[in-house]
Amino acid sequence: MKVLILGSGGREHALAWAVARSARVTEVVCAPGNGGIAQVARCVSVNLKNLDAMVQLAEAEQPGLTIVGPELPLSLGIVDALTERGFRVFGPTRQAAMLESSKGFAKRFLQRHNIPTANYAVCATATELEKAVEVFHPPLVVKADGLAAGKGVIICNTRDTALEAAHGLFDGTLLGESERQVVIEEFLEGDEVSFLCLSDGMHVTPLLPAQDHKRIGEGDTGPNTGGMGVYTTDELIDPAMREWIVRHIAEPTVRGMADEETPFKGVLYIGLMITARGPQVLEFNARFGDPETQAILPRLESDLVDALEASIDGRLIETALRWAPGASACVVASSAGYPGSYRTGLPISGLGAAARVAGVQVFHAGSTQLGPQLVTSGGRVLGVTAVADSLEQALGSAYRALAEIEFEGIYYRRDIGHRALKTLRK
Ligand code: AMP
Repeated sequence: MKVLILGSGGREHALAWAVARSARVTEVVCAPGNGGIAQVARCVSVNLKNLDAMVQLAEAEQPGLTIVGPELPLSLGIVDALTERGFRVFGPTRQAAMLESSKGFAKRFLQRHNIPTANYAVCATATELEKAVEVFHPPLVVKADGLAAGKGVIICNTRDTALEAAHGLFDGTLLGESERQVVIEEFLEGDEVSFLCLSDGMHVTPLLPAQDHKRIGEGDTGPNTGGMGVYTTDELIDPAMREWIVRHIAEPTVRGMADEETPFKGVLYIGLMITARGPQVLEFNARFGDPETQAILPRLESDLVDALEASIDGRLIETALRWAPGASACVVASSAGYPGSYRTGLPISGLGAAARVAGVQVFHAGSTQLGPQLVTSGGRVLGVTAVADSLEQALGSAYRALAEIEFEGIYYRRDIGHRALKTLRK
């Protein structure tokens, strides 16, 4: 079978690598892909903002399965467009992807279905905003309604700064585009966990829970990024908690979407805060997380393609996933300056030696092949992932591999997993 993957980052590299291991797959095509993905797939160019171009590509390539990586094509309706033309596509329809593409929709949905989440107000006017802000105790969280690539959430210590942030979202000064509505939310304290599930529209199958580090600086300081590192361990969530999350959050979400006639198929990524009051939903994503996928898929022992097809066909209940026991860790190597401006085109070396460290896979997020040389082409450049019996060992292997890699200005956090290691050592 030929598999087409849409996207160009570390997530798509991990997907292409996992798909290529399936005995049923004869060819992997990735659009547009990147320098690292080109080692496991044929890369073809496409504009992920252009629905027609993606449809034309599928018509030319005739894949047996298409996997959509990023959120934008989902919110443009790529799954609807390809399904209408008879293609098999893994991912949610445009309507179902609203769980991610509209925070206002997601919050109201959670409330309608009694799924635990922070108290909130969705505001469409300045008057609504001023009224809502009065009701919340600082700190407050102000969120853009639409997709904002991780930049749409502002934590505010006072009501005044919350009002200022919300006005900035409305008038477009904060994100460049003006938001139609803004969500105000109570601030939750606790441990964050990314809980990803496969859904076939009726049933869910959880993947491994993961914990990520969003801040650029060690000790979780400095500006937010797309993610600087992530890990999975068998100890992150105990079986009783996992069961609770499936029963009270994942299943009611999928059932609620089915009841509202917008069944959700694909990856339901639930961003959770584990608070003193129990797990609360922070956000939904409608796709594989990045970098979470880079840490999760290397532990998957069963066939990814079988699982994705079971999601498309509504057969997840018959599908059990097998995972390697232990832990995995993914440490992101970024360009100097990221998440601000950074240089590209810098030669990358040492990848061969890094890949020889036992249990290590190097996924590329922002690299490109320039003649014989692989060079940097993004802010996040590589996701160095290791699987081992324990988190400590996985981190050790990932850092040993990173020590082999060089490009000018390479930066990575040396404390990925510090919170989990502290808990595990207690
Ligand atoms: P979101 O895109 O909604 O997940 O928000 C991005 C990040 O902001 C989350 O991963 C949390 O770290 C933080 N965040 C969002 N909502 C809240 C909240 N209600 N309380 C505390 N932190 C939050």
